[in-house]
Amino acid sequence: MNENQRLESSQAKADNSTDKKSAKDYSKYFETVFVPPSLKDARKRGKEEVKYHDDFSISEEFRGMGEGRKFYIRTYGCQMNEHDTEVMAGIFMALGYEPTDKTDDADVILLNTCAIRENAENKVFGELGHLKGLKKERPDLLLGVCGCMSQEESVVNKILKTYQHVDMIFGTHNIHRLPNILNDAYMSKEMVVEVWSKEGDVIENLPKVRRGNIKAWVNIMYGCDKFCTYCIVPFTRGKERSRRPEDIIQEVRQLAADGYQEVTLLGQNVNSYGKDIEDIQYGLGDLLNDIRKIGIPRVRFTTSHPWDFDDRLIEVLAKGGNLMPHIHLPVQSGSTEVLKIMGRKYTREEYLELVRKIKAAIPNVALTTDIIVGYPNETDEQFEETMTLYEEVGYELAYTFIYSPREGTPAAKMQDNVPLDVKKARLQRLNNLVNELSAKAMKTYVNQIVEVLVEGESKNNPDILAGYTDKNKLVNFKGPKTAIGKIVKVKINDAKTWSLNGEMVEESAEEAVSLAEVN
Ligand code: SAM
Ligand code: SF4
Repeated sequence: MNENQRLESSQAKADNSTDKKSAKDYSKYFETVFVPPSLKDARKRGKEEVKYHDDFSISEEFRGMGEGRKFYIRTYGCQMNEHDTEVMAGIFMALGYEPTDKTDDADVILLNTCAIRENAENKVFGELGHLKGLKKERPDLLLGVCGCMSQEESVVNKILKTYQHVDMIFGTHNIHRLPNILNDAYMSKEMVVEVWSKEGDVIENLPKVRRGNIKAWVNIMYGCDKFCTYCIVPFTRGKERSRRPEDIIQEVRQLAADGYQEVTLLGQNVNSYGKDIEDIQYGLGDLLNDIRKIGIPRVRFTTSHPWDFDDRLIEVLAKGGNLMPHIHLPVQSGSTEVLKIMGRKYTREEYLELVRKIKAAIPNVALTTDIIVGYPNETDEQFEETMTLYEEVGYELAYTFIYSPREGTPAAKMQDNVPLDVKKARLQRLNNLVNELSAKAMKTYVNQIVEVLVEGESKNNPDILAGYTDKNKLVNFKGPKTAIGKIVKVKINDAKTWSLNGEMVEESAEEAVSLAEVN
């Protein structure tokens, strides 16, 4: 359902209720909002243009809704979800709610979910089971499910049937409707379900409460049109739509002015940035070229699809400065045949050629990747091609996954015919190689001095500080607490497989860029 249909249907509902109005009308207290998801609708890519809104506001009737109430959001999955949580937290705070980090304390609990693999979904169902007791003890507690799982028909049906203690389900396109959804949930005895399956809009002025004041996420685009055959994201996140460059640049400028040290530009497929903006020719390379002139010390972006990674982008990244020498470039498989059935639209050779170009332009670049093993029909030989590609590229890290069929995707119709023990054995072999190359990359840092953006105390030891290098390597080191939030120089004494240990040698590193604007 799109915005117009929704307005029409709510108008129809309103007209109806006026007709029926009797002296005492309790109907609104029992009204159920029910807009279920449809994977079929989500698959469609309409030609209608993207509408940009900057008119979000908390309507008068909802002001103060949260006074004396607390919210808790548990986030699963990718950075996109983490950033959506920051937006929902901003809406809660604008409604007068306070945050809490304890479910026992909360008046509203939201699970912001991930649908990428079956085990991600199972975690959420497990948590819903745990929360049943709390809901029984405190019937006034509102329990909501949002994020990618809400966009799936099968999930919504399962929750309606098995988890009736849930009060609201809303989708990734309905976040700005949170005040109305909460209001409906307070008013209604039924489960509130509001999931729009297709959405082409960008809402600019949603409030946000960012986690921390050192690093920030900045959405540059939403959705994905790539439809890799295994992936649920194009169904759960809608069509590709880019934010206007001026809005993104303004947000980054503001973050720099607020003292943030790092921004990560976010999108499912950031290399497609700008392709849907019709009045200007402007891609990710152009955007990064403008952002590198802003006085923010570190700029990253994720996630790249190799298909759209163009020469302009490589040329801009090669300018260095505040553009970090780390590229996450998911390959998924080293076999051209498997890539073809995955719908990735590049061959092993084309990927390797892209890597060659990147390395030639940015010799100190660190490359990382995502890989799926056990795709339908993947043979031993095809898996070996993934192993050889991994070594040939010399990745410094990889996120590795066993293929998980996702209902509604083309791959789910194929027979999932690689036996589980074979999938596990392949994953194990790949992970051994990932560990080996990560340890090898880490060893090269011993006795080197690196620049570390200090994020805070180490999780395991408050006397140790932790932060990340330009290539995103975790460094634990001894240093004063005054270093938190700064980029400092650290001498590396010891390398582990996934992290480095060292000692701070200088409080204020020469920053990659001065805080004044550069050309
Ligand atoms: N947009 C990114 C790209 O194009 O590579 C990745 C997005 S996805 C959130 C992160 C990773 O999850 C993918 O790169 C892929 O390796 C993995 N993934 C996605 N669907 C999967 C599935 N059905 N089974 C296993 N892994 C999957
Ligand atoms: Fe999924 Fe990424 Fe492919 Fe889009 S490009 S369908 S998000 S794996």
